[in-house]
Amino acid sequence: MKIIDAHLHFCPEEAGFSQLAEAAGHENTEKHLQQIYDELGIVCGIVMGNRTVDPKDHQYPPFMRYCIGIDSFYLDGKQVSDSIDQIEENLRRPQCVGVKLYPGYFPMYISDPAYEPVYELARTYGKPVAVHTGETSTPNAYLKYSHPMTLDEVAADHPGIQFVMCHYGNPWLMDAAAVVSKNDNVAADISGMLVGRVNLDMLFEEKQGYLESLKTWMGYLREYDDIMFGTDWPLANLAEYIEFVSRLVPEKYQEKVFFDNANRIYRLDLE
Ligand SMILES: [Zn+2]
Repeated sequence: MKIIDAHLHFCPEEAGFSQLAEAAGHENTEKHLQQIYDELGIVCGIVMGNRTVDPKDHQYPPFMRYCIGIDSFYLDGKQVSDSIDQIEENLRRPQCVGVKLYPGYFPMYISDPAYEPVYELARTYGKPVAVHTGETSTPNAYLKYSHPMTLDEVAADHPGIQFVMCHYGNPWLMDAAAVVSKNDNVAADISGMLVGRVNLDMLFEEKQGYLESLKTWMGYLREYDDIMFGTDWPLANLAEYIEFVSRLVPEKYQEKVFFDNANRIYRLDLE
């Protein structure tokens, strides 16, 4: 089965990312990632951009696409409006398939008028807006901004834009399901749920209730049309993540979750 990794971070030069990759049994290099993608049948990865919106800083190998990310490092001392021209420059490129927002890490609701010019660009270029939702990986963040319910208002007010709820609002899974189910223009990725190496048999035994709940609220959505596989590389071991998702998604829907949905939602045009 061909696979699209709909959510990763690619910063080969960053020491913090290298440590995470090593903890997950990987190496934080393009060569290793390409090799492991090939081994596992992952034909494309969508990078969630970090740190800068300058197009010069977003050069990726051909097996990757990217969302231009407006994160808290970039916004430290800057306004969203400062970035609009450069975001547009990114969105003009075929390799740039969307925008990524990081509420929670950055203390502002995505319904804030400051984001309107970004939504206008997403509409103009017909590219999705991916939004961090759910828990954050660091404690210096405010979860009220990353609750999945915050997407509802923005999705309802912008019916012409496709939104992606990253991490399916984890662990607010029931709330996430309500927002994805109710809004035709909201899909979700299920990245970021594992960190480092895991023993899946033990995990499914020890966290049975939680994983049943994840399964339940994915299954709540019609036909799994709005759920995309993503790994949040370099956080997790890629082979384990594929196995993890294979255990949660019924076999008849796996092709959609692992490939078709991301290909359609991010308009990748992959065969
Ligand atoms: Zn991520």
